[in-house]
Amino acid sequence: MSNNSAEQFDAVIIGAGISGLYQLLKLRQQGMKVKVFETGDGVGGTWYWNRYPGARFDSESYSYAYSFSEELLDEWDWGEHFAGQPETLRYLNHVADKFDLRKDIQFNSKIKSAIYNDTTGRWLVEAEDGSQADGQFLITAIGPLSAFTMPNIPGIDDFKGESWHTARWPHEPISFEGKRIGVIGTGATGVQTIQEVAKTAKHLTVFQRRPNWCAPLNNGKITAAEQPDLKKRYPEIFKTCLETTGCFLHAPTMTSAHDATPEEREALYEKLYAERGFGIWVGAYYDTLMDETANQYLTDFIANKIRGRVKDPETAKNLIPVDHGFGTRRVPLETKYYEVYNQDNVRLVNVKDDPIETITAKGVKTIAEEHELDMLFYATGFDGITGAFDRIDIRGVNGVKLKDKWDEEVKTYLGMQIVGFPNMFTLVGPQNTATLCNIPRCIEQNVEWVSDTIQYMRDNKLNKIEPKDQFQEKWTKELIEMASMSMFMKVPSWISGQNSNVAGKDKPRYIVYMGGAPMYREVCDQEANSGYEGFNLA
Ligand code: NAP
Repeated sequence: MSNNSAEQFDAVIIGAGISGLYQLLKLRQQGMKVKVFETGDGVGGTWYWNRYPGARFDSESYSYAYSFSEELLDEWDWGEHFAGQPETLRYLNHVADKFDLRKDIQFNSKIKSAIYNDTTGRWLVEAEDGSQADGQFLITAIGPLSAFTMPNIPGIDDFKGESWHTARWPHEPISFEGKRIGVIGTGATGVQTIQEVAKTAKHLTVFQRRPNWCAPLNNGKITAAEQPDLKKRYPEIFKTCLETTGCFLHAPTMTSAHDATPEEREALYEKLYAERGFGIWVGAYYDTLMDETANQYLTDFIANKIRGRVKDPETAKNLIPVDHGFGTRRVPLETKYYEVYNQDNVRLVNVKDDPIETITAKGVKTIAEEHELDMLFYATGFDGITGAFDRIDIRGVNGVKLKDKWDEEVKTYLGMQIVGFPNMFTLVGPQNTATLCNIPRCIEQNVEWVSDTIQYMRDNKLNKIEPKDQFQEKWTKELIEMASMSMFMKVPSWISGQNSNVAGKDKPRYIVYMGGAPMYREVCDQEANSGYEGFNLA
């Protein structure tokens, strides 16, 4: 029973990206009446929005695909080892068509609020256009990197040329020929954009604040002859993903960097540098991301690679990070990125030394000079993981606002539920392992765990679930202890919960579970097997 006039559903899902689509399918298969709200006019989430030039996977395509349907795996041929955004969006549209998902999705509907009713124990979800849905369960599938952030630089509205944030790229093709282009930001998005734009732009100015350690993607086409073998290997591919920390196809070398001779280290690093994908990040000696000296060995190797690839020593110096070791921020994978800086039409501006003062009508004004531009692209990142939650007015028991709670301190249980917000599940939410993962692999785990939990409740005639306070405290405390030891927390990035463009988010925040996917999965399974001892079920 509800006391509003909104249509009633068993579950309301916010978001029709990879997690929302699969969650809809699972709950529908469990016989539930489900409604999905989606801001965009199509499915795909990240892959719908991030249409910037050069956008593509950095996990192998066949390790990224949904694994739940053999038929789907068999019928889809990935064209490249790391698919570009158009191919991935086609794939997700194919999934939506195949499982007839669109009929339960309301597009062009940005959610403004989700309010829990203490009397009915149900959630009222409302979009900006006033449409509503009332659900017993609220499931957020809003993505960890969906709330994009513009830089806090004055004058952004004054620019007279064309400008976009990379996460709101136009749907029509854009030509860069004859154009003077500026890109602000050199994270994974900036790197992909820069290496593509540099091919045809008349001139490209890269505004870099802090360089990142980048490594080769080593992409390639998958030939028709390779397809059958690849498909046969799917069980082995997904098994490997389940066993590795971040569900990538690359496992660490299980010896210490200290036990290898300099020659042996060099040989391993060379091998990994030439391999496809994240091998160089997660396949090196197991202590590379735990021990400063072990990390320094690989850091020195990558720095030498940059010096070898960039002709001008001063530019090379500016491209080499000095404030963090290799791999302690997410590693952008590149294709001839460093060689871009050998081109006559490309200039690197180090805005750490020469800060941007303002955006002007003509371009970007640093302290030293004004850079005149026809187009300006903001690859300035996201208010990571909690940002998308902050943008919705989510209120739980007694009208308590989630944003107010999380502004004090982010606390969850299993990164999946929050005390005071009964029947709300946060897929790929804060303090979940899925944010530091080959994401569909962890999404499938999240969705299946939530679906099984809801099924357990239905089987046992239970209609309310909320974590116990002491379990939430314990989870958050242990997560902080674990993260405090991690090198990721020592450098600002969305992984350490920091974004210089968002007020109040300039200090490290503990919003990522760093114990790795296998351990996270085990804890979630134990919870279910114990009859959900960490939760109050009513
Ligand atoms: P990001 O890693 O947060 O990078 C944002 C960039 O903008 C940084 O270089 C940052 O500089 C710069 N920036 C921000 N504000 C600025 C300001 N006010 N002035 C000057 N520079 C400013 O964001 P992203 O590149 O969009 O990547 C986010 C994540 O998305 C990645 O880590 C990855 O997980 C994911 N991603 C994945 C792929 C893929 O291949 N699958 C592709 C793209 C992104 P500072 O470093 O100094 O803060």
